[in-house]
Amino acid sequence: MPARKPQPSLEGEHVFDWVIVGAGYAGLAAARALAAKQSSASIAVIEAGEVGENASGRNSGFAIDLPHASAVTAKSVEEGRAAIRVGRYALDELNRLIDEHDIDCDWERRGRFHAAVTPEVAESALKTYASNLEAWKEPYEWLTRAELEARLGTSYYGDAIFTPGTYLLNPAALVRGLADSLPSSVRLFERSPVIEAEFSGPSPYVKTASGRARFGKLILAVNAFSQSFGVYKERQIPVLLFASLTRPLSDEQMAKMGCESSWGVTPAHGVAGSTLRLTRDRRLMIRQGFEYSPTLRTNDARREAARDMHQRLLERRFPQLGALDLEHFWMGWLAVSQNHAPAFGQVNENVYATSCCNGSGIVRHTASGMLITDLALGRENPLIDDFLAQGTANYLPPRPLRDIGVRLTISWDTWRGRGEQ
Ligand SMILES: Cc1cc2nc3c(=O)[nH]c(=O)nc-3n(C[C@H](O)[C@H](O)[C@H](O)COP(=O)(O)OP(=O)(O)OC[C@H]3O[C@@H](n4cnc5c(N)ncnc54)[C@H](O)[C@@H]3O)c2cc1C
Repeated sequence: MPARKPQPSLEGEHVFDWVIVGAGYAGLAAARALAAKQSSASIAVIEAGEVGENASGRNSGFAIDLPHASAVTAKSVEEGRAAIRVGRYALDELNRLIDEHDIDCDWERRGRFHAAVTPEVAESALKTYASNLEAWKEPYEWLTRAELEARLGTSYYGDAIFTPGTYLLNPAALVRGLADSLPSSVRLFERSPVIEAEFSGPSPYVKTASGRARFGKLILAVNAFSQSFGVYKERQIPVLLFASLTRPLSDEQMAKMGCESSWGVTPAHGVAGSTLRLTRDRRLMIRQGFEYSPTLRTNDARREAARDMHQRLLERRFPQLGALDLEHFWMGWLAVSQNHAPAFGQVNENVYATSCCNGSGIVRHTASGMLITDLALGRENPLIDDFLAQGTANYLPPRPLRDIGVRLTISWDTWRGRGEQ
């Protein structure tokens, strides 16, 4: 993406009816929904960095229409159907906005290949997924190694389920487009990290290094960063993910792939496996590495190790392409919950928050951003019940017990799924 000219930062004293912290999918969706529902309200979105330089801009670019799946029970099937209604609500909105504002973000309904490398994971994860798809009456194709090789240009995967409803996109282009087309009643402040917040009292506010915004109501749309506000810190598990993108493949390399012009693979083993794409501009993208990150910090050694791993895993999948040149490497934080349910709701008299995207925030947090405005306005919306069909993120044991438990679980999952890397 070319450099972006950010909006000015928050300077001086302000008063707004609504303040939203965070300009990712959740915050931008909330701002737009509020502007539509309360045309005379003053609304501010306050973003620590620049739009697109966050997880919403730096993800793998899968807008997935279907939920994760567990063993089929009557309850899980109903929860899945509710999640599908929420997903389609968000996808309809994204489709509408991309069309209305002509957002150029490579948005394309390409479907996705949910793939397993080993027969064990095909048996455990893909068969369960297929049973859910049947129960939900969602179309799918089961593909074998030879069929996958023809479509993806790699014989690495043993089996996959293809579902047609996922959109692939350039996430940085989408999130910038959404920010740049906000209604005029919304003021966006970039490069404005909130460093202090007073939630209650006669004049609640959020404060940055050079400004203060007093608010009527506040929406925290900062996902994993909620913990810095003392919100949901006992319910969310902050996770760090890494990804890399090669230079565009040459004509000769594309001929050696001999596959579809663009595609997306998600791993059947969510923790150990890799997300993979061939983008429309012929780059290979890999997302691999799933790390518990309670302090929301990382270091150069860890980044270096993740990048090396990406190089190895790509070359293992595409030996016919020779050495691959990784042009970009990035990472980002998100929040997951132990029970895969969202953290969503009122957290103080005038404060609402949404977190725990559980890895599919393009769709889920577009929905949560819209839905939290109905909650805050006291409007009924049956989709809120759908969004919370699985309940809310459950409580975790306190640290350091939590750190031990989460690290052991991730290490055990990664070891068990090592054949899926
Ligand atoms: C590598 C990677 C790959 C992923 N792949 C996919 C995918 O393919 N599909 C998918 O659906 N999801 C994917 N995700 C998850 C997805 O990116 C998130 O679910 C989504 O970005 C959540 O959106 P959000 O608006 O809730 O939070 P974020 O995008 O995290 O936005 C929160 C914003 O709050 C701001 N903020 C935080 N603290 C403050 C503060 N104190 N003051 C002001 N602003 C603050 C941050 O700067 C940030 O911009 C991926 C994530 C990563 C990291």
